[in-house]
Amino acid sequence: MMEARNYISGAWIGGPTLEVFYPADVSRSVGRYSEANEDDVQHAIEAAIAAQAGWKAIGFVERGNILSMIASRIEHNVERLAEIATLEMGKPIGETRGEALRAAAIFRYYSGEGFRSIGDVIPAAKPDTLQYSLREPLGTMAIITPWNFPLAIPAWKIAPALVFGNTIVFKPGELSSLSAFLLVELMADVLPPGVINLVMGKGSTVGEALITHRQLNGISFTGSRQIGQHIAATAVETGVKVQLEMGGKNPVIIADDANLNLAVDMVVSGALRSAGQKCTATSRVIVLEGVFESFKGLLLDRVASVKLGDPLEADTYLGPVVSAHQREKILGYVAVGARDGARLLAGGAVDPERAGYFVAPTIFEEVQPQDTIAQEEIFGPVIALLKAASVAEAIAIANNVRFGLSASVFTSSLDTALRFVDEIDAGMVRVNEETAGVELQAPFGGVKDSSSHSREQGRAAIEFYTRTKTVALRPAYGRS
Ligand code: NAD
Repeated sequence: MMEARNYISGAWIGGPTLEVFYPADVSRSVGRYSEANEDDVQHAIEAAIAAQAGWKAIGFVERGNILSMIASRIEHNVERLAEIATLEMGKPIGETRGEALRAAAIFRYYSGEGFRSIGDVIPAAKPDTLQYSLREPLGTMAIITPWNFPLAIPAWKIAPALVFGNTIVFKPGELSSLSAFLLVELMADVLPPGVINLVMGKGSTVGEALITHRQLNGISFTGSRQIGQHIAATAVETGVKVQLEMGGKNPVIIADDANLNLAVDMVVSGALRSAGQKCTATSRVIVLEGVFESFKGLLLDRVASVKLGDPLEADTYLGPVVSAHQREKILGYVAVGARDGARLLAGGAVDPERAGYFVAPTIFEEVQPQDTIAQEEIFGPVIALLKAASVAEAIAIANNVRFGLSASVFTSSLDTALRFVDEIDAGMVRVNEETAGVELQAPFGGVKDSSSHSREQGRAAIEFYTRTKTVALRPAYGRS
């Protein structure tokens, strides 16, 4: 059984432990982790600050080499990482395996950043002057992550933070602490003490101690809109730079000329993989009237064949949701959907025979754009079907929410595709593709309440994790 401890200034620190149970069978204990306290957070921040100058001095190329070593270590431990992530938060093993490989690929990609340009040479008015811009580390960062991508999200924040010369205090989601511990364990002995520190525990204590600390230089947060807005408000007081990635209510539009078989596959994958617990999950499907009944029939057939079961079994498509709290929240939305007049076509219930947090794939039709289930992030395997008379109306419905993370259209018309790309309010726009699955080398982020408007991943990460210095060099010789 795994015993996960906090990691501060190069030492593994114990403390009161919390037990973790398998969401697919809550009688099975998976491990324990140590909960940090406010003093631990203080020590972790002090350690990260103390380590920062040395880490900066190592230089970009050497940091790139170290990241490459971390990528190899993750590659060699994919099965271990995948298994613990599945046991801890219930995502099917095929998905957590893919996620572990993704984490390795992210470290590999950012190892390359250690070798790429970090500034520009800029013409100067005085011809003997060399003027250039230079990227420097931001300093010491808090990295606060959710539980739903226990490996990939920490990787896509930690890797760029490290390669650009920052030191880190990492606070993972409570429900993904064991995966976080394993990841940090793989990095620990190739990084100098203090460069990465791990503090596990509650948002209200450990997280709060981090975000109110004035000596940090940056906070990169992924999680709910509510906590993100709280962090933004706190950062106004502390003056710390923040990056927030928050929720989604991602729409798919099915046009009259869509390839319906393709669309059904992509909607099912987008809505049901990870049991719908993705910020980019498909949650609203806006179907043009002419193809509504055909699409609905195909969707119901496809969903009926989805295998719900133990996420450690290779052919399970839909595992449990992460916790009892999450299951109650999802079922609460199902009740609200029915109360608001939507018609339940499938799912909406729990199998009483199962000892885990399972929710059957759930489909509603006759959902109105203003209904709660069409407006709020549910974070579960729930699809709301809405009808539109035209592409213009479908785009208007798609835009009529506070979120704007990812959005897809299914069409074979170039005009419809281009119009959608132009008019949709979303940070990530996809044509004949599912809403989830954006690649690591491309900028990731949303608009409106989904994001603080900065971007993660790809080269875009340099904007958050560095600051720019402008330099002018002029020779002394030949001047009086
Ligand atoms: P959450 O907001 O409850 O928690 C996120 C993290 O913040 C956790 O580590 C938590 O402990 C911490 N936290 C909680 N209260 C805090 C406080 N007062 N101060 C500091 N930290 C605090 O979110 P969650 O339930 O873990 O994750 C689900 C949410 O994450 C969903 O809304 C989902 O859309 C979002 N998400 C967004 C993205 C994205 O990239 N946009 C990706 C994945 C998940």
